[in-house]
Amino acid sequence: MASYRCSDGSRLEQKQIDKLIRKAKKIKVQNQFDEFGYNFCEECGISNGTFLDCSHDISVKKCKENGKTEQAFNVGNITIRCRECHQKHDKL
Ligand SMILES: [Zn+2]
Repeated sequence: MASYRCSDGSRLEQKQIDKLIRKAKKIKVQNQFDEFGYNFCEECGISNGTFLDCSHDISVKKCKENGKTEQAFNVGNITIRCRECHQKHDKL
C-alpha cells in the first residue's frame, strides 16, 4: 500500500490518514460548537437549511505532494464551509 511522508520523516498509509482526518474534522466541528453553541459556515456565516462540510485550506493532495501529510489532519487547516462556499473554494 502506498504511504505518504510527514515533515518529520515518518510515513503514513492512506488508511491511517483517513482515520486521522475523520478525527480532526470531528474535533473542528466540536470546537466550533463549544465556542459558539452552534455550527455555521466560516465563510458566509450561514447556519441552517444547508449542509456544512469540513473543507481543507491546503488540499489533502497538496499536503501529500509537499511531504507534509500531517497538515491533512491539522485542525488549523480545516475550515467549516457550506456547500456553496466549499465549491467556490475548490475552484480557486
Ligand atoms: Zn458559506
